[in-house]
Amino acid sequence: MVVEKYHKMGVAKSRIRELFEYGMAQAKVVGKENVFDFSIGNPSVPAPEKVAEVVKELLEMDPIALHGYTPAGGCAEAREAIAADLSRRAKDQIRPENIFFTCGAAPAMTACMHALAVENAEFLLIAPYFSEYPAYCASTGAKCVVVPPDTENFQIRFDELEKRINRNTQAVIINSPNNPSGVIYFEETLRKLGEILTRKGEEIGHPIYVLSDEPYRELTYDGLDFPYVPNIYPNTVICYSYSKILSMPGERIGYVCVPDQCADSEALYAAIAGAARAIGHVCAPSLWQRVVARCTELRPDLETYDHNRVTLYTELTKMGFRCVKPQGAFYMMVEAPDGNSEGFSDRAKALNILTVPCDGFGCPGFSRFSTCVSPAMIQRSLPAFRKLAESYGLKGE
Ligand code: PLP
Repeated sequence: MVVEKYHKMGVAKSRIRELFEYGMAQAKVVGKENVFDFSIGNPSVPAPEKVAEVVKELLEMDPIALHGYTPAGGCAEAREAIAADLSRRAKDQIRPENIFFTCGAAPAMTACMHALAVENAEFLLIAPYFSEYPAYCASTGAKCVVVPPDTENFQIRFDELEKRINRNTQAVIINSPNNPSGVIYFEETLRKLGEILTRKGEEIGHPIYVLSDEPYRELTYDGLDFPYVPNIYPNTVICYSYSKILSMPGERIGYVCVPDQCADSEALYAAIAGAARAIGHVCAPSLWQRVVARCTELRPDLETYDHNRVTLYTELTKMGFRCVKPQGAFYMMVEAPDGNSEGFSDRAKALNILTVPCDGFGCPGFSRFSTCVSPAMIQRSLPAFRKLAESYGLKGE
């Protein structure tokens, strides 16, 4: 006998994976260059060269020390480096003891959710939200409550958020720059969120945390920046990852930061460490802890992503599609002209354009396009997009 809910999760193919596999099969039929796969968020620019240099340097180290277990929260050297890096942005200094290394943002978020999943706990997800959050929450016993999307600006609908806060609300999950919208929350949005959570927290008699999922933190364009959230709302826990920033999602490295000013920070940190342990965390990969410790100043190469973002947005808008202008990450949402995102994705698929309907991101009526693709593929895809626009009778320029 197996646990039914996990069996279901295990056999259910994610929509993204399904499309990706379809794309590979279709490439054999129509040729690789005629399939336009915008489905998956796998970085398309290589990791900065310095990463390989640092790896080579580290391989000279004593192998016993290099490949051995580290303390569960990470080796001292790596935690110190991250704390020093975050302290440059933080009003209140970050100490190495505030950092807990994880195997990426996914286990970081999962450990935080487990740590906060007291009886009847509820987490607020702000649509559009990363479609894996409900899976991270699945074994915690907590409930995910969705705040419907602001489909004009893709900020936060505060009236809807406030209505959903009650005694059981433990945390609000935010992700900015956002997957799938590519939008960055304005500082004013975060300030308003902080005000509401402070007031509501006083009303219900316990703090409401913000879990800030930040794997795209430095992937921002047009000179925009994503602020350091604990400077705005102290009860913020940061979940960070190097998967996208340094183009190394397969290496599985990231961290949780619980700043001192966060309510009950010591207890919360300990609960996150305990929750991580309970879900099988031993330590994050020792080599990669040391790599990122030596690469804290590295920033992603934004040029290709920026070029793709601008090209796809400009071309699709000219054809008459309504697109959400991305300011960060490497995704763009396009509205289905008839409001049917599944139908839109199917019609696009018939033209070998692969795109993910945003229903699973809590935002039906839109489709997500990953722009971490090759610029040449975008150019090749434009005639197919024109056909798609024509099929909806869109009047382009
Ligand atoms: N959170 C968001 C918003 C993501 O987009 C992703 C990956 O796509 C993750 C978390 C998981 O990232 P990681 O590879 O660091 O586990």
